[in-house]
Amino acid sequence: VTESSPQKHVAVLAFSSSSHPLILMNLVRKLAQAAPNVQFSFLNTAKSNLSLFSTTAKPDVPHNIKAYDVADGVPAGHVLSRNPLEAVNFFLKASPENFKRGIDVAVAETGKRISCLISDAFLTFAADVSEDIHVPWIPVWLPLPFSLSAHVYTHLIRQKVGSGLKVATLEFIPGFSSIRILDLPGEVIPENIEEESLFSRTLSQIGLVLPRASAVVLNSYDELNPPLINRDLKLKFRNVFNVGFFTLLSCGSGSDLTGCISWLDEQKERSVAYVSFGTAASPPHNELIAIAEALEVSGIPFLWSLKDDLKELLPKGFLEKTGKRGKIVAWAPQVQVLAHASIAVFVTHGGSNSVCESISYGVPMICRPFFGDHHMNSRIVEKVWGIGVNVEGGILTKNGLLKSLELVLGHGEGKEMRDKAQALKHTVQEAASPNGSAAHDFSSLVEVISVS
Ligand code: UDP
Repeated sequence: VTESSPQKHVAVLAFSSSSHPLILMNLVRKLAQAAPNVQFSFLNTAKSNLSLFSTTAKPDVPHNIKAYDVADGVPAGHVLSRNPLEAVNFFLKASPENFKRGIDVAVAETGKRISCLISDAFLTFAADVSEDIHVPWIPVWLPLPFSLSAHVYTHLIRQKVGSGLKVATLEFIPGFSSIRILDLPGEVIPENIEEESLFSRTLSQIGLVLPRASAVVLNSYDELNPPLINRDLKLKFRNVFNVGFFTLLSCGSGSDLTGCISWLDEQKERSVAYVSFGTAASPPHNELIAIAEALEVSGIPFLWSLKDDLKELLPKGFLEKTGKRGKIVAWAPQVQVLAHASIAVFVTHGGSNSVCESISYGVPMICRPFFGDHHMNSRIVEKVWGIGVNVEGGILTKNGLLKSLELVLGHGEGKEMRDKAQALKHTVQEAASPNGSAAHDFSSLVEVISVS
């Protein structure tokens, strides 16, 4: 525990989409415990704050974190589509004014001026906000560090890349010899630059603003990142801290409200396929049917995290036919699920937290990427780490999924993947140990916050 002045007041700016606020909150919770005299004001949209701070959802919020709501920018009466980018662009349009107002309220209420600004690194305008109030800025990069490099090099990529070269690899970026242009997040090369979205424009500033940060925090481990990426980011930015996977920082045992863990307890070791596509992606109807058909034919026990409105789209009688062999829930305690000895494979969208969680427990993956960094993460899972495969043709079909399941669960290549997944798990465990690199970097981060 670091001694710090009671005057310190850290404003935390959250990016309101998908799992970002939840994961950032995990880090802030750990910081608040390590620096109990520092006050943390967590600025986030009302809806997201409600899910993070409601007493039933999270009763264990430390006393020195307080939530402040900021406007989400969605016009009154507007009904959002299923496309998560729509809400993102509304939110960014309301920024940074929404955050500035939130900061004023937090300062007035606590009587403490802001001493440091932590933000989701997607919020590139936070560099200006911190300079306006003369405090250090600490951006936190939540996805895997590979995609940070992709955004840092956006301008160079846009200069170099012609439209017809989608399968060419990005050799000119350190650590990217296996990454192709088509694996990049859509925001790096928008289809039509004239109509670039606000989200894409905001992210394109990352390489320009991050050198102004006092420290850059990565949701990763030094030992997990390719040395070329580590070296490059450390040359570009001051104080790059790999503080470990935030997704694991605060996972208590929790109660088993959905019965997932007791159900898994009844399954054989390394027998179950866990299926989940995160908080924002929704597979189209035909792919939901393909998954159901493949699971039914395969005879493999499965646990499927599927939102209620999508569950209605499953083939009639599917649940009855698969009986006790399958379980569907609207929300699974994913970290505990992946940690369970019965899990054999994870069918995932390749979201960065899902990938980190799978690595942490040595579970091989079958990836069906949708948007954002999913394609890049899935490519890394398959080609860099060798701990999983991408579904054939990029979309889920009955035969494609059956083939992937056979491959990952079988001998030969599957065994190699499982061995590599175990080896990566051990690398992470070592880095995450009390004397490991992540604990060292975390202490350095606490120090920066406590003295600034
Ligand atoms: N998650 C969970 N239960 C579910 C579905 C998702 O706990 O049923 C959690 C998962 O453990 C992960 C996060 O939600 O921490 C999803 O993050 P990810 O980066 O994989 O995807 P995103 O939702 O941001 O697309």
